[in-house]
Amino acid sequence: MKEESKMVEKFGYFGKILWVNLSTHEINEREIPEEWYHQYLGGYGLAARILFEEIPFDADPLGPDNILAFMPGLLTGTTTPFTGRYMVCGKSPLSGGWGDSNSGGTFGPEIKRCGYDGIIFVGKSEKPVYLLIKEGKATIEDASSLWGKDAIETDELLRIKHGNRIRVAAIGMAGENLIRNAGIVNDKGRIAARSGLGAVMGSKKLKAVALIGATKYPYKNKNSVIQMTKEYKDKMKFKDLMSRVMMKFNNILPGMMRLIKMDLFLTEGMQVTMMSKYGTGLSTAISSEVGDAPVKNWNGVGYIDFPQKKVRNLTAQNLEQWKVKPYGCFSCPLRCGAILSVPELNLKETHRPEYETATAFGALILNDDVNTLLKVNEYLNRAGYDSISAGGVVAFAIECFENGIITKEDTGGLEIGWGKSESIMPLLEMIVKREHIGAILADGVKIAAEKIGKGAEKYAVHANGQELPMHDSKFGPSLATTYVSDPTPGRHTAASIDFMEVGPIGKFIKGLKIPKSKKHKYNSKGPAQAFMAKIHQTVNALGFCNFATWSGNIRLLDFIFQATGIQLTNDDLIKIGYRIQTLRQAFNAKHGAIQHQINTRALGIPPMEKGPLKGITLDIKTMVRDYYESMNWDPETGIPTNSVLEHLELDFAKTSLKLNTKNTTIVMLP
Ligand code: SF4
Repeated sequence: MKEESKMVEKFGYFGKILWVNLSTHEINEREIPEEWYHQYLGGYGLAARILFEEIPFDADPLGPDNILAFMPGLLTGTTTPFTGRYMVCGKSPLSGGWGDSNSGGTFGPEIKRCGYDGIIFVGKSEKPVYLLIKEGKATIEDASSLWGKDAIETDELLRIKHGNRIRVAAIGMAGENLIRNAGIVNDKGRIAARSGLGAVMGSKKLKAVALIGATKYPYKNKNSVIQMTKEYKDKMKFKDLMSRVMMKFNNILPGMMRLIKMDLFLTEGMQVTMMSKYGTGLSTAISSEVGDAPVKNWNGVGYIDFPQKKVRNLTAQNLEQWKVKPYGCFSCPLRCGAILSVPELNLKETHRPEYETATAFGALILNDDVNTLLKVNEYLNRAGYDSISAGGVVAFAIECFENGIITKEDTGGLEIGWGKSESIMPLLEMIVKREHIGAILADGVKIAAEKIGKGAEKYAVHANGQELPMHDSKFGPSLATTYVSDPTPGRHTAASIDFMEVGPIGKFIKGLKIPKSKKHKYNSKGPAQAFMAKIHQTVNALGFCNFATWSGNIRLLDFIFQATGIQLTNDDLIKIGYRIQTLRQAFNAKHGAIQHQINTRALGIPPMEKGPLKGITLDIKTMVRDYYESMNWDPETGIPTNSVLEHLELDFAKTSLKLNTKNTTIVMLP
């Protein structure tokens, strides 16, 4: 057995995945070598090990050679707090490299209840189908009557047909129409949104995955896990005094923070108390004011272009008026979601918009109309369209329109512009239906800018094809490193040291020492960024939600051991994460997808002349090189070196990299 773990007995996993060939409609079980669970845990770690070898380097992301994997984390299905997540993996139609996305709700644990550690789809069906697992039997079913329905309707129709116990992950119109930013929706509004994997699902004519399982999670010691879960919940700080004070003064807080140049920060108590009440939208107003939120397509200033009286309409505090009940993913003690009822918009039950959606359809495009936000949020959930990317695409279209690059002739007569709330829904529908300019915008801002020309690329804010999230990298510089150099580009939830250190990340796992770095000292960040990248992979592969890492100490090694029998040390956690991140990077090297393209607005080139981010220009070359160097990858190209591949027992990747080096495109940084 490998050095980082010692197997006691086989617990915590089933040792098999379901392998579904959509071209031939054959369904098989494939055994997974036991040591892979020790080396890669579960989730996208395990997927990386499988997909690296199975997806050919020249596979078209929207063709039959691409593979789509649904992978729950190793601890998913246990009561371990925050571990209800599953990951969808495949080759991304946005970046041409490794794609993954994750979602909470209750779908991930259901994969385990079906007795599998993952479900993998290869090939492409001729007609629309869905996979059904029921009473221990997997079948491919006709989905002709579901094709054309939105993701929530699909979920409801499958419940009517197969019973309310069913758990569904489905695509909506965006996935069907191969919108490159499409996601996959479960639990009627949770979405594995990023990387465009809903389009991959659509290209395979796979409408849904519908599961009813009855298999129990194979705990090593169930009682211990339950007891530790109870202890964890008992010490959560739901009644933090400071949070109560902050919530009371939330109208004046953003302006105060900007004036005294206070950084974003969360204590454990704030994270637990405020997130459980307001969810991610708790920071919508603050982020816009202090420079965290990108404003006016990354070219504006919050307090000038989108002052507090506007942004306040979109905050979670304002959305409280429609809140019916809190919502939480499986095994989550925090429950950061909420269900709203908005009768005036005919929305009987809708998920509360997250921070990312409220900012992408708020400060980013200067929309201050909360009704528009609520309608957009519901529409995107039903269409299965990543709200971050959708906001980025709308912002791009608006700026092109304002500059005469696209006109009413392109939009079918629709007038779009900054703050023109009434035009947002028609524009989104145009994109999802691929009508007029929507047919071009449907491919995301990078490809759209290439097709439109006339200087449109200036307004296309993306990294390696993925629209950037709602966290300005000039505010948290290492976000730029993550955006441009992580195997899944353009992600705030990846491994940025500056983003993770907003909360008490150091408390999460006892004994882990995070290397020091300084926010705007660009040559100080490599070791910390690399450390965070490694730990982040392990946390994901176990099935944790990112918010666990800000919610206080968890007895992580004990949870892993009592659930699975796998005994690990902190050093093992780091090495496993290092292995997963290196393999994801090797996947991109194999597919010629290591690129370093990022819109210069994200770097402060030229620097802003006003606002909290005034004068900031990031030294991206130094940050990326130092990160690569700290990962022991080639510092110039980012390709993992042979010695690091050997060290991580990734020897099998060496041949592929050697064979395909000629396909590796290195696009220089600006
Ligand atoms: S913190 Fe929120 S997103 Fe994370 S698991 Fe809990 S409910 Fe889900």
